[in-house]
Amino acid sequence: MKIICVGRNYADHAKELKNDLPTAPVLFMKPKGALLLPNKPLYYPDFTNDLHYECEVVVRICKNGKFVQEKFANKYYTEVTLGIDFTARDMQREQQKKGLPWEIAKAFDGSAAIGSFVALSETMQIGALSFRLDINGTTVQEGNTTDMIFSVDKVIAYSTQYFTINIGDMLFTGTPAGVGPVNKGDKLEGYLMGEKVLEVEVK
Ligand code: MG
Repeated sequence: MKIICVGRNYADHAKELKNDLPTAPVLFMKPKGALLLPNKPLYYPDFTNDLHYECEVVVRICKNGKFVQEKFANKYYTEVTLGIDFTARDMQREQQKKGLPWEIAKAFDGSAAIGSFVALSETMQIGALSFRLDINGTTVQEGNTTDMIFSVDKVIAYSTQYFTINIGDMLFTGTPAGVGPVNKGDKLEGYLMGEKVLEVEVK
């Protein structure tokens, strides 16, 4: 099982981190050990002083695939939730400055928190999902999948040119603007179409 993540998939977030808009999906991966299951706490890692939240829509892959065409990509997922792409922003900036890979800043144990999955339906369409993240009861991020630069289907088509996707893989689809630091004791709550699906405490 692997976790495929998309970076810079919302224009307003790319701008807030002073990144150019991508012309193809920016992909990176997290290993299985990065997965933080629903309602498990995240222990603030010792190696960072600037741990950030990035709230993202997550889809679970339900079918093995390679070279998936965009028009068939919607057959490869039926469920959706919210996740947090936890990022050691200080380390990520260091790595980027040196032109080095991001994994130590983004793929560490517990860095991919997920909520409870919900079935997609007429009223839960992948291209029109509103979501938000509250920290300690205050909304810090709001987004809608309609604002993605690359749709989920485009990302699946693109990534399966390089990587086979397997049942149980997760796809983190990128974060809207409003990312920021978390602190020990914070309670993160993610709402998808107004329903709470995710809760993570930072300890
Ligand atoms: Mg992210």
